[in-house]
Amino acid sequence: PPDVEQLGRSSWTLLHSITATYPRNPPVSLQQETRAFVTAFSKLYPCWTCAEDFQAWLKDDRNAPKVSSREEFGRWMCEAHNAVNVKLGKERFDCDRWEERWRTGWKD
Ligand code: FAD
Repeated sequence: PPDVEQLGRSSWTLLHSITATYPRNPPVSLQQETRAFVTAFSKLYPCWTCAEDFQAWLKDDRNAPKVSSREEFGRWMCEAHNAVNVKLGKERFDCDRWEERWRTGWKD
């Protein structure tokens, strides 16, 4: 099986990069496909215990993917990542800065 940390860093890079290039006004069809992608991703993620916990987190209605705009989807992904950070005893990331980190680049 792949290295869980390396897999994680690569996966978050892919996921946050997807939100950074997501349309500001996605058509409803893309919103549906995006929800389906998140569900499929949670089932296919090749770290089984990670995948189980992520699926359980997704099942809570409050954590349903928010995909109606780039801003919403980017923040939602940041919150998803923070849920894993908290579980692993890592620091929470300030989600006001997700776009700076993943789209526009740090200003300092
Ligand atoms: P990462 O957490 O990989 O973060 C990479 C970079 O993203 C950071 O350096 C920072 O710049 C930025 N970042 C950090 N937090 C956020 C945020 N909230 N929003 C935006 N950007 C942020 N590992 C396990 O050991 N057990 C698990 O159960 C587990 N579940 C996972 C579930 C999923 C869906 C994914 C994608 C990964 C999971 N991982 C799990 C891997 C774990 O999240 C980390 O990727 C791994 O531990 C490496 O951590 P890291 O400290 O290098 O930084």
